[in-house]
Amino acid sequence: MNIIPYTDKHHKFREKTRAFIEKEIIPHVDQWEKNKIVPKSAWQKMGREGLLCTTIPKKYGGPGYDLLYAVIVAEELARSNHYGLHAVLHSDVAAPYIYTYGSEYLRNKYLPGCCSGDIVSAIAMTEPNAGSDLASIETMATEDGDEIVLNGSKIFISNGINCGVAVVAAKNPSDKSPYESTSLYVVESDLPGFIRGKKLEKMGFHSQDTVELFFSNCRIPKTNILGKKGMGFKMLMEKLQFERLLCSVQTIATAEFSLAQLLKHQKTTSVSGQPVPRTQSSQFALVEMATEIKLGKTMLETLIVDHMAGKNILKETSMAKYWNSELARRVAEGCIELHGMEGALESFPVVRAYRDVRILSIAGGTTEIMKGIIAKEMGI
Ligand SMILES: Cc1cc2nc3c(=O)[nH]c(=O)nc-3n(C[C@H](O)[C@H](O)[C@H](O)COP(=O)(O)OP(=O)(O)OC[C@H]3O[C@@H](n4cnc5c(N)ncnc54)[C@H](O)[C@@H]3O)c2cc1C
Repeated sequence: MNIIPYTDKHHKFREKTRAFIEKEIIPHVDQWEKNKIVPKSAWQKMGREGLLCTTIPKKYGGPGYDLLYAVIVAEELARSNHYGLHAVLHSDVAAPYIYTYGSEYLRNKYLPGCCSGDIVSAIAMTEPNAGSDLASIETMATEDGDEIVLNGSKIFISNGINCGVAVVAAKNPSDKSPYESTSLYVVESDLPGFIRGKKLEKMGFHSQDTVELFFSNCRIPKTNILGKKGMGFKMLMEKLQFERLLCSVQTIATAEFSLAQLLKHQKTTSVSGQPVPRTQSSQFALVEMATEIKLGKTMLETLIVDHMAGKNILKETSMAKYWNSELARRVAEGCIELHGMEGALESFPVVRAYRDVRILSIAGGTTEIMKGIIAKEMGI
């Protein structure tokens, strides 16, 4: 039984996305991983193909599709076995902030470029002293006439080198709690005072441009605020649900990719002229991995349907985020183990997947934070 009601149009879109990724992305991934960045031209090609910002309405340059198109792009990109071209963050997290909370002026100014890939977007929340606890952010947004002056620093910002705009969380000087004094601003990356720090050398996500950002008297027009002043926290919380579901979509796709790679290797490899011996223990290990993936995917697909129906699934989304990212890690590790010594070589694609999925239980909200949300929702 299909849980997600994909239509023929969705299936056609998936075929088109897969064909594009096979032709324009996969052949370049190894080089991008070595270069530690994805060129801007790849973003523009994706944009021209209509694969960016799939939910943004036609009026602002997007195709105006339903959320399932975003799910398809996230899945297909994860199957390309790299997390460098972070289109999910751009298309389905950062740009939608501008669409949902931005003024008509901001939407018209930035969204067409986001859809075409000429403007890459980032979201800058995390700071050296504020990761899980975003209430501790220290970046300040001070009013000065018609302008806002930003001062502070951010860290671990994906798309930080390529970005043309960043949605930046900053505090307004106020006696109120951080939950009522945080706002979101759209900041163009070529403004004076928008400073890119060093690109972070990570264990995985090698081609993703993750950087430090500094704001030093960076002046933006007051009109670049998203939503109302002081409502930043509420906006961040509202958007996190879909971001975490998409994170889960990627982890399941990577787990499926890993298992498929191992099975492919076993079918095409022989040991002393014989097929790879299938012991009961290796059979059982493969069965356990396939079962875990099926369970994780079933939960995830149900949640996607619930999310589209507008249900409150905070608890379940948190469960899926932590469970599926850890599941993908177990699967990648199991695939390397069953592969034997050659499973440790860079030529085995699961090695990269293993490094990448390790990060997915941290980025977008750690496993511990997810468990804390679940406990709260369970009232325990
Ligand atoms: C590759 C990558 C890309 C990223 N991209 C972005 C981005 O584009 N934009 C952005 O803003 N951020 C980004 N981040 C930051 C990411 O969201 C944070 O790393 C994450 O929220 C965790 O924060 P932290 O790293 O500061 O960990 P900390 O909050 O310092 O946590 C450290 C440890 O303590 C645990 N912990 C913390 N608080 C609690 C608690 N209350 N209860 C129990 N355990 C707790 C955590 O689970 C963790 O194990 C990215 C991170 C990575 C790794």
